[in-house]
Amino acid sequence: MKSIITHVVQRGESLYQIAKKFGLTVNVLLVANPSIKNPSLIMPGQVINIPKVNKTIVVPRKQYGYDEMMSDLDTLSKFYPFIKVSTIGKTVAGRSIPAVQIGRGAKEVHYNGSFHANEWITTLLLMKFIEAYAKAYQEGRYIGHYKIKNLFEKTTLWIVPMVNPDGVELVQNGIQPTDPFYDTVVGINRSSGDFSGWKANLRGVDLNDQFPARWEEEVARRASPGPAPRDYPGPSPLSEPESKAMANLTRSHNFRLVIAFHTQGEEIYWGYRGLEPAESHRIVQLFSEVSGGYRPIQYVESDAGYKDWFIQEWRRLGFTVECGQGTNPLPFAQFWDIWGQVIGIFLVGLDV
Ligand SMILES: [Zn+2]
Repeated sequence: MKSIITHVVQRGESLYQIAKKFGLTVNVLLVANPSIKNPSLIMPGQVINIPKVNKTIVVPRKQYGYDEMMSDLDTLSKFYPFIKVSTIGKTVAGRSIPAVQIGRGAKEVHYNGSFHANEWITTLLLMKFIEAYAKAYQEGRYIGHYKIKNLFEKTTLWIVPMVNPDGVELVQNGIQPTDPFYDTVVGINRSSGDFSGWKANLRGVDLNDQFPARWEEEVARRASPGPAPRDYPGPSPLSEPESKAMANLTRSHNFRLVIAFHTQGEEIYWGYRGLEPAESHRIVQLFSEVSGGYRPIQYVESDAGYKDWFIQEWRRLGFTVECGQGTNPLPFAQFWDIWGQVIGIFLVGLDV
């Protein structure tokens, strides 16, 4: 299916007439055609994008993996040309890790999902948010009481919907004997073909145990002395390409706030060893309210996580949100319930 159609401007035709012809508003056309600076200055022969805004692109489903995400990102950026997709690095198996940029404000905010392989429903939540946000912006609408145009002008949001694509693929599709990583991965998984408990990357390193925030203490605390489906912090901090890519992205921006989305527990971790800013407390209360009661937790016996490192290095707002409740991977049947809980967090995070 064609994701976007085009129209060639005829002599004497105005943007208003074109919008009317396709059942759209001038505003929708302007957003879909960033090159048009002045709506009354269009030329005969000029090609104009006509977005088909009613189509749903991100369709929640039982298995939503890397290929689905990449294909949806491609379609999203065609429908909504103000969405910019770039690559922050490559995984162990050579997959590109995409980052999505949306908004044009001076304030930078970052969200990520699927640091842990069997928590891939967080990717679907972020993808759905990208679509909802883009659609509302294009149509000049509100979500809840937020006028999306205002958030868009005020904030630039950077989303990495899937930090650990190799791991997500492993959880969803297993691994073929022809795969160069087959022996390593099956060895780490103790010859089991069931990867539902797998959180790590393809080398058996827990990517959220990899950051230089008291990493050595995390090593001493964790049970896994070597590669494992979960909880192995790796041979050194940021030894893995995926965590390195996340560190580079974070260092090359000026994020005011970051949120790492995980599952499960309906909890929000918001502190790190007293280094978090004072306003973290107020903001986690807001998150708790809009999520319908996710429980704020200030400290746990854990180091070397992404948000730990962010708080330690920048003394800014860093959160880990544990979405939903149950055994990972959470069943797809919970998707819309969790969506209802986190949509408020997505929006508040852009507004604080
Ligand atoms: Zn997790």
